[in-house]
Amino acid sequence: MTYKYEHLVRNINDYPKEGIIFKDITPLLQDKRAFQEIIEEMASVAEELNANYIAGIDARGFIFGGALAQRIKSGFIPIRKPGKLPAETYQQTYELEYGTDTLEIHADAASPGDRVLVIDDLLATGGTAEAAIKLIRQTGAEAVGLCVLIELEFLKGKEKLHGIPLHSLLKNP
Ligand code: AMP
Repeated sequence: MTYKYEHLVRNINDYPKEGIIFKDITPLLQDKRAFQEIIEEMASVAEELNANYIAGIDARGFIFGGALAQRIKSGFIPIRKPGKLPAETYQQTYELEYGTDTLEIHADAASPGDRVLVIDDLLATGGTAEAAIKLIRQTGAEAVGLCVLIELEFLKGKEKLHGIPLHSLLKNP
């Protein structure tokens, strides 16, 4: 039987700014059965998509992405905030509610023929995920899917994914 963990997502009102309900996943990470169940569910997605790399988005995507890569015995690719990767990078800048943000990947992180599954904790408006998908494509590899723990469906992030399959473990928790 699968272990239920939705109740372990904690809502923090007005963080990091007024009007935002922040989905805090730390109670869920503290629960060993929840963490293990999430990695098992993500592993079935990765295996179904025949992914040979897991790419995690800075920073909470690293928590699940790193554990998942170890679980499926694949390599791990960090997609990072600007200025953190030391070698040659590709960049993607995307719109936020106020201003812009940028993500980077190492230019040699993956190659044509590689099948990369992108992992993050949460899909909101989709700008972050869209930038990550574009970065994977810049390396010549294929972005075979996006897997997130939480999808906030009302923000319609799915529409920004260029048709790649989305797997969300929890919808609107
Ligand atoms: P977006 O680009 O709008 O899809 O935002 C997704 C990114 O922002 C993810 O990396 C999340 O970690 C973070 N994020 C956005 N909204 C929330 C929220 N309500 N609670 C927690 N994290 C969020």
